[in-house]
Amino acid sequence: MWNISEAYIDGKFVPVQGTEVIQIINPATEAVIGTATLANRDDARLAIHAARRAQRTFARTCKAERIEMLRQLQAAVLSSAGQIRDSAIEEYGGVFARTQWVSQYASQCFANAAQTLEDYPLIRTVGTAQVVMEPVGVSALIAPWNSVAGTICSKLASAIAAGCTSVIKPSELSPLQSRVIAQALHSAGLPDGIFNMLSGRGQDVGDELSTHPDIARISFTGSTATGKLIARAGLQGMKRVSLALSGKSASIVLDDADLSTTIALAMNAAFMNNGQACIAGTRLLVPRTRLDEVIGAVQAFAATLHVGDPKDPDTAMGPLASLAQYQRVQHYIQRGLAQGARLIVGGEGRPAGLEQGYFARPTVFANVSQDMFIAREEIFGPVLSIMTYDSEEQAIQIANGTEYGLYAYVFSSDLQRASHIASRLEAGTVMINRINPELLAPFGGVKQSGIGREFGVAGLESFLEAKTIVTAL
Ligand code: NAD
Repeated sequence: MWNISEAYIDGKFVPVQGTEVIQIINPATEAVIGTATLANRDDARLAIHAARRAQRTFARTCKAERIEMLRQLQAAVLSSAGQIRDSAIEEYGGVFARTQWVSQYASQCFANAAQTLEDYPLIRTVGTAQVVMEPVGVSALIAPWNSVAGTICSKLASAIAAGCTSVIKPSELSPLQSRVIAQALHSAGLPDGIFNMLSGRGQDVGDELSTHPDIARISFTGSTATGKLIARAGLQGMKRVSLALSGKSASIVLDDADLSTTIALAMNAAFMNNGQACIAGTRLLVPRTRLDEVIGAVQAFAATLHVGDPKDPDTAMGPLASLAQYQRVQHYIQRGLAQGARLIVGGEGRPAGLEQGYFARPTVFANVSQDMFIAREEIFGPVLSIMTYDSEEQAIQIANGTEYGLYAYVFSSDLQRASHIASRLEAGTVMINRINPELLAPFGGVKQSGIGREFGVAGLESFLEAKTIVTAL
């Protein structure tokens, strides 16, 4: 049984002052595997204070020192990759291959940031001015429950590269994964206070971070609704705020696409991370003339999807992360049926043979129209909506016909044609014939999917502020 009751503040694990105790539940078995005591505002203030104190010295570190720290973090996280993976399986229900990848990616974030910083000019001459890129200051890094290690390490890597100390607030729904990551980061042996981490609720710890005058920057990943609260709170203190938010991404299959490869990619785009991915391609747009063919291929692919024990390397989809998530997905499946969408794969309830655990059936609807809830709202579960189009123009209109704009996918055997369509899609990222991201390129959304970019140079610059120094000639 896990018993987590400490926060990581000023280089040490210290008992939290908060008193709310929550259960940690394994979503694959519904067994209680531990408890966590959540941090409160007082803990948050201590963490902010520690980060502020450390900021003075950290801001004066040179490139080489920060690169060395990033390398230390990379090595520390890499050597804990097994524990990071196992905690994501146990607490979140992530499947083996995905959690393995994320645990490696978490360490790679630090290597990427080191490389980016190495190549980045922190001082440059512009006309008669010298422009110095300075750390923006103490940063709050606020993360969701669906991608814990990756989100924390990606944000922290950019913050450290820029010379910003931070207070990390993972979701209150991921205390076990957060604890394992904090231990891994601690083992890197960085000076006290450079990063601090505490699990607490959004309305107190999150709000404290969004409003505290000593926080200069907020890097937030989570839902659009929460992002707006944070942006409003942050504006009062003129905090630099970036928001990586919800999505309802389209996968456009062009009439020349090779379905033998496309459908597997599109289905993986829809169901990645057990369907709980901001970048999931949850609307599959297909030419009306190829609908029957696509439905056949989707059903054939779905029949091969093994849902079950996330520890088993053959499992393609594990449970949803919580009972609330399970109920949310059921609700959307019911709404799809009630609005007349045609169920072609899955449906309500658990998959056959899985009586225990928050397992949903991977579900695909056809005959989905743009006005249906399942086509408009982010479900955050394994539910795919197939929509048909009659022309390229209409495909683009449907893809853009959402308030969100995080990702889009285009599948075609004609790359020029696909690129032309990509240029017209309202999305932060467009993937053509692939679903694995480029981790050094900017990542973020347009419209209601967010403000600002992470990763690579864009991520580094989001933690920097330009200071212009002009001297008399
Ligand atoms: P959420 O918005 O409920 O919570 C995210 C974080 O914000 C948590 O740490 C939470 O405690 C905190 N929070 C909640 N209220 C707060 C407040 N008032 N002030 C400060 N912090 C507060 O999101 P979630 O349910 O944890 O995550 C799922 C959502 O995140 C989905 O919408 C998904 O699309 C989105 N997401 C986006 C990305 C991206 O990169 N764009 C990545 C992963 C998840």
